[in-house]
Amino acid sequence: MSSFDVDLFVIGGGSGGVRAARIAAGYGAKVMLAEEYRVGGTCVIRGCVPKKLMVYASRFAEEFHEAQGFGWSVGETRFDWATLIRNKDREIDRLEGIYRTNLDKAGVEIVDSRAVIEDAHTVHVLKTGARIRARTILVAVGAHPTLEPVIPGGELGITSNEVFHLETQPKRVLVVGGGYIAVEFAGVFAGLGSQVTLLHRGDMLLRGFDDDVRAALGEAYVQRGVNLALGRTLTSLEKTSGGIAATLSDGSVLTVDQVLVATGRRPNTQGLGLEKAGITLDEVGAIPVDAYSQTLIPSIYAVGDVTNRANLTPIAIREGHAFADTVFGNKPTIVDHDLIPTAVFSTPEIGVIGCGEAAARAIYGDIDVYKTAFRPMKATLSGGKDRVFMKLIVDKATDKVVGVHIMGHDAGEMIQLAGIAVTMGATKADFDRTVAVHPTAAEELVTMRTPVVVKKPEAVG
Ligand SMILES: Cc1cc2nc3c(=O)[nH]c(=O)nc-3n(C[C@H](O)[C@H](O)[C@H](O)COP(=O)(O)OP(=O)(O)OC[C@H]3O[C@@H](n4cnc5c(N)ncnc54)[C@H](O)[C@@H]3O)c2cc1C
Repeated sequence: MSSFDVDLFVIGGGSGGVRAARIAAGYGAKVMLAEEYRVGGTCVIRGCVPKKLMVYASRFAEEFHEAQGFGWSVGETRFDWATLIRNKDREIDRLEGIYRTNLDKAGVEIVDSRAVIEDAHTVHVLKTGARIRARTILVAVGAHPTLEPVIPGGELGITSNEVFHLETQPKRVLVVGGGYIAVEFAGVFAGLGSQVTLLHRGDMLLRGFDDDVRAALGEAYVQRGVNLALGRTLTSLEKTSGGIAATLSDGSVLTVDQVLVATGRRPNTQGLGLEKAGITLDEVGAIPVDAYSQTLIPSIYAVGDVTNRANLTPIAIREGHAFADTVFGNKPTIVDHDLIPTAVFSTPEIGVIGCGEAAARAIYGDIDVYKTAFRPMKATLSGGKDRVFMKLIVDKATDKVVGVHIMGHDAGEMIQLAGIAVTMGATKADFDRTVAVHPTAAEELVTMRTPVVVKKPEAVG
C-alpha cells in the first residue's frame, strides 16, 4: 500500500494549478488542490478577465462619438461604474463556479485553505490542520502586486487587486508604472472619462517592447488626453481635504482621488515553507526550476508566475499541462518560452510576437525592417485620430519573420493569427504570397514590400 495520501498535492488554484490538477487526475492520479482565496486565480478573479471587461467598458464613449460620422445620432449617454462592477462580479462568480465544477468532474478534491510545505512530501492544510502526504507537490501559488518602492504615505495607494472593487469611479487618477498593467488601467480610466496621469520613471512606456511601438503608444496616450509624466518617480503621498496629494521627484504635486501603483509583482513564496523542504529562492523570491518545472527537490515542482519565467496565463496553463504530461502521463514535455505572442489591452491595443528591432539586430545581425503607419478606413468618416502601426522584422539570412508588432484596433486578435505563421517559421516570402483580405487593416501585414532604409556603415557611399 502507498504511504502517501495523494499522488499530487497542488498548492494554488489559478491558471497553472487548475490545469495541472485536471490533467493529472485525467491520467488517474489522486489529486488534492488547495486554494486560499478563490478558484480561478489571478487571471479569472483579478487579472486578465475582469481587466478585459473593463477595457471593453472604456471603449464605448469613443464609439458613441465616432458613430455620428456614419449618420447616427447618439442621445445622451451616461456611464454607471456600479453597474459595471456588479456585472463584472457576476461574471467572475460564474467563471469561478465553472472552474470548481470542472475540477470536481475531473475528480480533484478542492480544499479551501492556505497550504504550506513542511517537507519534501508533506503539505500542511492550515484550515483543517491536516498534514497530507503527497508523492508529488506542485507549487502554483502565483504572485501578488506590491506597493513598491516604499515611500511616505505609500499605503494610500492601491494595487490592481483593489482597483477591481472600487465603489466609485475616481475622477482624478494617478497610475504609477510603465508596464502593461499600468498602461492598460491608464487607458481604462481615460476611456471612462477620468483625468489620468501616468507616471513612469523611464522615458518611454512598456520596457522590453519595440521602441517604435513604445513611442507610438506614448503619442496615442497623449492624444487621448493622458497626462504622461515620464522620467519621474513618486516620492510621497498625503491625504488632504481635496483628495490625495502626490509629490513627484521633480517637486511637483498632483491632487488625485486614487493612486494606482502598478510597479511590479512578487512571487507568493513568503511563509510557504519552501526552505524547510530545501528549496532556495532566487533574488526576486521566485522558485528556480528546470525545463520540466522540477525544483532541486525531486518531489516538488513549480509552474506559473511563482517561477517568474513568462508571467502570462497561457504560459502558466502550458507549464501546468506539461508538468502533468511529464509526471503522470509518461510524456516528458518541455514548454518553449521563446516565441510568445502577447497583447497589451491599451487603447489603442498592441499585439506582438518575436523580437523588437534592437533585440533582433543583436541576435540576427543583418535584418530587414518593414513599417507602415496609416489612418484606418473607419477613421475617414468617424474622424478618429488613432493611427494603425505595423512593423515586421525579417532575418535576412533565412528570410524568416522574427518579429511582428501591431498597434491599433484588434491588434490582440491579429497577433494571435500572425503568431501561428511566425511559430511555424514563416518567411517574408510566405507573407508576400498570402493574398490580402480587403478592405482590412490586417492586409497591410502581407502587402509591405519595401524595407525601411537602415543607416549602416557599409551602405554609405
Ligand atoms: C491586472 C492583471 C492583468 C493581467 N492580464 C493578463 C492578460 O491580459 N493576459 C495574460 O496572459 N496574463 C495576464 N495577467 C497575468 C496572469 O493573470 C498570470 O500570469 C496568471 O494568472 C498566472 O497563473 P498562476 O497559476 O501562476 O498563478 P495565479 O493565477 O495567481 O494563481 C495562484 C493561486 O494560488 C493561490 N495561493 C497562493 N498561495 C497559496 C497558498 N499558500 N495556499 C493556497 N493557495 C494559495 C492564490 O490565491 C491564487 O489563486 C494579468 C495579471 C494581472 C494582475
